[in-house]
Amino acid sequence: MRTLFFPYERGGGNPAYPCGLCQAGDDRWRGVEEEIAVSLPTVVLFATGGTISSLEADSAPRVYAPALTGGGLLERVRGYAQIANVEVVDYTSIGSNDMTPAMVLDLCRRVRTTLARSDVTGVVITHGTATLEDTCFLADILLESEKPVIGTGAMYSASSPEWDGRRNILDSLTAAVAPVARGKGVMVCMNGELHAARDVLKMHASSPAAFVSPGTGPLGVVDEGKVILYRSPSARHAFSVESLEARVEVIKVTQGSDVRVLHAMLGLGIHGLVLEGLPGRGALPSSFRPLIRDARENAVPVVLCTRSPTGRVTFVGPIDMVELGETGVIPGGDLPAHKARLLLMVALAQTRNEDRIRSIFAAVAP
Ligand code: ASP
Repeated sequence: MRTLFFPYERGGGNPAYPCGLCQAGDDRWRGVEEEIAVSLPTVVLFATGGTISSLEADSAPRVYAPALTGGGLLERVRGYAQIANVEVVDYTSIGSNDMTPAMVLDLCRRVRTTLARSDVTGVVITHGTATLEDTCFLADILLESEKPVIGTGAMYSASSPEWDGRRNILDSLTAAVAPVARGKGVMVCMNGELHAARDVLKMHASSPAAFVSPGTGPLGVVDEGKVILYRSPSARHAFSVESLEARVEVIKVTQGSDVRVLHAMLGLGIHGLVLEGLPGRGALPSSFRPLIRDARENAVPVVLCTRSPTGRVTFVGPIDMVELGETGVIPGGDLPAHKARLLLMVALAQTRNEDRIRSIFAAVAP
């Protein structure tokens, strides 16, 4: 139990986001200030590294690397202790370019155990932004809990005066304890917006507003300490797997792509393949079709995605698309290729049956 003094508008306001006038003990508020005792919810913060935790070397400004622990992060986040009791797990300290699906599977085991604790209200994962959407999507299809799990990062290092980590952590903690955020799956919280892990993409290389859900828009916002959701995520599906099928790769197909790349990939002994086809429904050069048939004959499922950031792959309309559908390629719906790969890794860990894999894709990416 922690005692907070907060002279905010009665019934509203969030003590971590003081308006400037509203400082506890401020003479201007004498008589208005009230003491209330609140029991703060517990949030577990899993720190994994990324720019959010990075410090620049004095000797080499603009060169930064993960350095801060979860505790070190919180020391820089004034106001966090008024939102939640935060427990820290220093899971790792890496750039997210080095995060792997196997590590995310392991992280999810720890998160699952944490969420099962009755005293834990939610989880925040601090992470590099390069693969934040990958980790959060994989976690979304691996975790079943109703409790909020919020992934966040920063576009500026903790050495930068523009460090966006403080706001993103405060907003993420706020979302992790918000009753409205329950049952929404894993979300990404960046720049005041909450995104469904399934929909969000890092659309800008460097802007703090890099994260966008192109087809759907964000689920909502965290504004002045309040979580406001405008929509719900699409139907969620969680899969229980002990391992992931690691040998799943993506080939990006562009105008005139050489089909021998596909041939070489099959020769490497992959167990699943995602093709990112051309913008639109994901069309491929006709030369790819026989090899897709070969792959299937060798029990390698092939999923087709589109380079277009919005819209779905279906096999209707243009004759090329209809014929492509006849090869037995599995439509990736509106999933981008990197997320389709993660789903295929999970699906293959559950089943080798192509019809079942097809129906997993139809459910998650209709
Ligand atoms: N390189 C960083 C990473 O760990 C990028 C970032 O965090 O923004 O993904």
